Amino acid sequence: MRFPLGMTLSIAGYMAKKKITRAKKFPMVLMLEPLHACNLTCTGCGRIREYESTIKQKLSIQECLDAVDECGAPVVSICGGEPMIYPGMGELVAKILERKKSIILCTNGMFIKKKIAEYTKSNRFFFNVHLDGMRASHDVAVEREGVFDSAIEGIKAAKEAGFLVCTNTTVFKETDMTELDELFGYLTSLDVDGFMISPGYSYAAVDSKEIFMTRDDIRAKFRAADAMFKKYSFNTSPIYLEFLQGKREMSCTAYASPTRNVKGWKGPCYLITDIHHKTFNDYIEKTPWDKYGYGKDPRCENCMVHSGYETAASLGVNGKLGDTLKMIKWQFS
Ligand code: SF4
Repeated sequence: MRFPLGMTLSIAGYMAKKKITRAKKFPMVLMLEPLHACNLTCTGCGRIREYESTIKQKLSIQECLDAVDECGAPVVSICGGEPMIYPGMGELVAKILERKKSIILCTNGMFIKKKIAEYTKSNRFFFNVHLDGMRASHDVAVEREGVFDSAIEGIKAAKEAGFLVCTNTTVFKETDMTELDELFGYLTSLDVDGFMISPGYSYAAVDSKEIFMTRDDIRAKFRAADAMFKKYSFNTSPIYLEFLQGKREMSCTAYASPTRNVKGWKGPCYLITDIHHKTFNDYIEKTPWDKYGYGKDPRCENCMVHSGYETAASLGVNGKLGDTLKMIKWQFS
């Protein structure tokens, strides 16, 4: 089973309610960024560059909870920056869990071992550890030696303590998919519960543009690694994977993954910043959604990230006959 049953049922219940009430644009995953500060300076990270002027600011625990309530999404992805350096992150996680939300805590994994006692175990809470390759490649991507080993120690500590753990891998032009096969084999031997994978997005703030891929590059790379996708327990849905492999087209549903950070609700999406809205309602109502997406805005040209398209897969956007069955079979496989 890809995700714990309780988590799947609560998300399914939420979606059913939205469909019954004929809600049009509703959130699925809140991307909550309590801070942008990080102990690393990863090559492909847009956040530490774009938010350099506010890097020392953070949302209070109450502001984070208000964002969770205001948005109402059933899943909260806590990212940043490095969320595990946020004072009171364990308390924030516990309070979001009390609201019956599912949580994905995106981390470089370096503080898990030291801080594990601060966290509440739940079948709705995952540590999501960033790993872009085996030791040598990952340490180059994050621009520091020893990070891979430290993240692996964190994964082992979390698994030993009974937490759910998944990993998140960004694929760049230089990524060797054979090496990723080795990585996922190794992580499977550590009992990691699932793998997320997504192509990198060329942030305006990142200078090293040569590391990012075009749509065609992405599709060729993901097609060539088809055997790997059948081998391991990926959290990437079969519909999103078909899109990444060029087997179908999909429209972006960025509104389903709203981002809240120290400046407000980031519009239009996790990747592009044209404005920060004061309220979630403003974000949904005032964003000119028709102007964004592939073929509409040049900045969307090579974007295939999960914050834009994985939600489209779960919402059945551009759906085909048999998709629902495919998604159910995948969830229970
Ligand atoms: S296609 Fe990508 S960059 Fe463009 S609006 Fe959607 S998520 Fe944002």
